Amino acid sequence: MALLVQKYGGTSVGTTERIKAIADKVKRFKERGDDIVVVVSAMSGETNRLIGLSKDIMEEPTPREMDVLVSTGEQVTIALLSMALNHAGCDAVSYTGAQVRITTNTAHTKARIVSIDEHNMRSDLDAGRVIVVAGFQGVDETGNITTLGRGGSDTTAVALAAALKADECQIYTDVDGVYTTDPRVVDNARRMEKITFEEMIEMASLGSKVLQIRAVEFAGKYAVPLRVLSSFTEGPGTLITIEDDGSMEQPAVSGIAFNRDEAKLTLVGVPDIPGVASKILRPISDENIEVDMIVQNVGLDKKTDFTFTVHRNDFKRAKSVLDEVCINLQAETSAGDNDIAKVSIVGVGMRSHAGVATKMFEVLSEEGINIQMISTSEIKISVVIDEKYLELAVRTLHSAFDLDDTKTVEES
Ligand code: ASP
Ligand code: MG
Repeated sequence: MALLVQKYGGTSVGTTERIKAIADKVKRFKERGDDIVVVVSAMSGETNRLIGLSKDIMEEPTPREMDVLVSTGEQVTIALLSMALNHAGCDAVSYTGAQVRITTNTAHTKARIVSIDEHNMRSDLDAGRVIVVAGFQGVDETGNITTLGRGGSDTTAVALAAALKADECQIYTDVDGVYTTDPRVVDNARRMEKITFEEMIEMASLGSKVLQIRAVEFAGKYAVPLRVLSSFTEGPGTLITIEDDGSMEQPAVSGIAFNRDEAKLTLVGVPDIPGVASKILRPISDENIEVDMIVQNVGLDKKTDFTFTVHRNDFKRAKSVLDEVCINLQAETSAGDNDIAKVSIVGVGMRSHAGVATKMFEVLSEEGINIQMISTSEIKISVVIDEKYLELAVRTLHSAFDLDDTKTVEES
């Protein structure tokens, strides 16, 4: 008998029909003998609808009232799902965040969980009930309702699993797992059986959005086994877990992430003297613009080109800041490029495989793709390329690193 925390997202509970289907699914787990804590999101579109209502009243309502408003979405689903379970003959009880006592700090609309009281839930679990908890919400020390930030139900589920020492935290969603890359780009992308927390964080932050990244970090910190699986089809999904002890042969690369969200800026011909890097980036960060990749190299003429990337939304602002810096530092010129893409290969196997970077660069050069920037970490190599080669690069790397699903090839 296992204790499972199961989280169902907005689309999984998007209609009353779907809520009934989820109730049947949960009931089957319960009948198998497992203890079940269910965490639900608001019905799909509901949180956005509520935010829209607030905008009809005023542009910037107080964060406290926003939390009172948006937390109602999840309160609707816990009641409906508990009713559906009871109707199906399965004893169930709903809990708001405050009723569990999920205590958070007072940072309204982006609160952090401070503690979870498992006492109330335990007695209902011991009495054989399914517990249905509202995701995304908590309560601060003085009783104000708080919310955890968009997509926060994933974090609620992981936090409850950690507090209850659950055997697994299962995130049910509209995809059947985490894929080696985006199946819309590579049609023989493969569902991964397993991925480590670290790899998942790299994959997600680089653009494969299946799970709230904060929830993955949380699960990694407390070593909560996390599984992503489909609400609508049967299957094992993808298990996100700690790294293997090395007993199994790891492939060099587990997945390929990419994004088109960045833009590149270059300051050409900057005097190569101490303090220049900070003089370039300080005015950028003063504008609250985040910098991702940075490349600098010194030429023979004691001048340097300084290149960095920012989010595309910040491109225009960053460019005008840089134009000013260019004058102040007496650099030759400043340039910018919006049409870039970042492609990254990710894998803990890189730690024990030599030559992964070389292979990546060779594969790209064979396709005539020019690499504009490179950055590496222990388990990731990222390159910036011209956006028009993005799909070609991802497909070529996917097959070069043996990630293609061979089953689809055999069947055809
Ligand atoms: N309903 C909230 C949102 O849309 C929380 C969640 O679904 O995880 O962000
Ligand atoms: Mg979500």
